Amino acid sequence: MKINHSTPENSIALTTSLQYITGPHWEPPTIPNATTYWRCSSCGRESIRERDLHRTTFHAPSCEVQEC
Ligand SMILES: [Zn+2]
Repeated sequence: MKINHSTPENSIALTTSLQYITGPHWEPPTIPNATTYWRCSSCGRESIRERDLHRTTFHAPSCEVQEC
């Protein structure tokens, strides 16, 4: 009996959207109440909360980031 060893090819799909989410970035200390923020490198939108970046409604209609 032969065992068919197939190579999984779906292991990279999970990070397709997340590759556009960068952060946390630190605002310059010259800004009052400086905080950290997250940025989408695809559409350029920013938020101080990372979870905003994981919502497709946060992104521009033409953004590469999709629901995952
Ligand atoms: Zn985006």
